[in-house]
Amino acid sequence: MPRTDDGAWDVLVVGRGPAGLAAAITSRRAGLSVAVAGLADAVPRWGETLSASCHPLLCRLGIGDELRSEHHLSLRGVRSAWGMGAAQERSSIFHPYGESAILDRARFDRRLESVFQSDGGIVMEGRMQSVRFDGALHVLTLRDGQCGKQLKAKGIIDATGIAAHVARRLGARRITQTRQVAIGCCFEAPPGITDHPTTAIVEGVELGWLFAVPVPMGGVAVWLVCDPAQAAQDGAMKRALRASQEVSRWLRSLQLQLRSKLVLRNASVGKLDRVTGAGWIAVGDAALSLDPMSSSGVTLAMLSGLHGGAAIAAWLSGDSDQLAGYAQTLQNAAEHHVELRQRLYRAERRWPRADFWMPRQNLGFTAEDDYDSLGRY
Ligand SMILES: Cc1cc2nc3c(=O)[nH]c(=O)nc-3n(C[C@H](O)[C@H](O)[C@H](O)COP(=O)(O)OP(=O)(O)OC[C@H]3O[C@@H](n4cnc5c(N)ncnc54)[C@H](O)[C@@H]3O)c2cc1C
Repeated sequence: MPRTDDGAWDVLVVGRGPAGLAAAITSRRAGLSVAVAGLADAVPRWGETLSASCHPLLCRLGIGDELRSEHHLSLRGVRSAWGMGAAQERSSIFHPYGESAILDRARFDRRLESVFQSDGGIVMEGRMQSVRFDGALHVLTLRDGQCGKQLKAKGIIDATGIAAHVARRLGARRITQTRQVAIGCCFEAPPGITDHPTTAIVEGVELGWLFAVPVPMGGVAVWLVCDPAQAAQDGAMKRALRASQEVSRWLRSLQLQLRSKLVLRNASVGKLDRVTGAGWIAVGDAALSLDPMSSSGVTLAMLSGLHGGAAIAAWLSGDSDQLAGYAQTLQNAAEHHVELRQRLYRAERRWPRADFWMPRQNLGFTAEDDYDSLGRY
């Protein structure tokens, strides 16, 4: 793919998740020279779901048939034990686009990557170590094992997830709404049991909330979303499971046994103080990280990637209005998300004085950079 005379890419995308790949596909289709640099994902993404309403978005990205792949599971419905009343079941089978999917995230990301590559895009493996703007170009160092290389680009897209490595190095700050982590583990059925569940469960407990969901590789993943201080104490997951009724009963009825070690993910809700700057833009979790409760992070990642990729292409041809429009759209999404979370968390009032639930009754953004303390997750 041709680069410009000075050896620079038109657009360099850092991060190989859904946001980065959607942005890369869009800017490549605008006729630009585009490279994606990033690490293959080390974090387990067990049980992430994608709503069937994403079908038009997937079609725009060239993977409209993806959710029918045998690699993902169909999610028939979600049972929620939330608030005072009895647990409720919400079916997804009557949706016009069909059932929601439980993703094999590695496969999903690879499929987006292959669309980008077949459009002539270049993917480079490696960790971004540094980035600076020299007044005309962005200069980035990428390290893959012992090898380091320098890359130059006119425009750069931060798609590094919640860490927002690029934007923060270029001067943006992260604003946190809620600091929280997710502790996860996988349970599997004993040999001979072939009956796979097709529904998921969300349940509030005093420590936080549990999400139990079947996974494409077999078995069930359980996530506990809780405060970082609780996660640091031994036995948080055990205590949460012991306190739960629906999830623990479900695991017992399926005769599931613990298969994996516990893993931790940063599940904080937050955004950047600005999502665009001189020749850069942030997309996906890097720009705005949603509560896992919404199950919308992957959708937002792809949508913001599409809009962000188009906005940076317009900026390269001298039109910066789209960058401003992009920033406004994300601001609207952030405000809408605050309202959604208020509604969801205020519906659960069983433990009004508990450390986890009390601050969630009155949510808002605080100016605090949380990545460094939670980044190891
Ligand atoms: C417990 C939990 C459950 C969730 N469940 C759901 C769900 O059911 N449905 C849903 O839609 N969303 C869910 N989400 C949210 C979803 O995981 C994210 O919103 C989504 O992955 C964001 O995509 P992204 O492309 O912005 O970032 P990511 O998917 O995080 O991709 C970032 C990429 O950048 C790479 N990278 C990072 N730093 C560097 C660096 N320095 N150099 C090079 N590369 C780098 C990473 O390796 C990674 O490949 C959940 C989140 C959590 C924590």
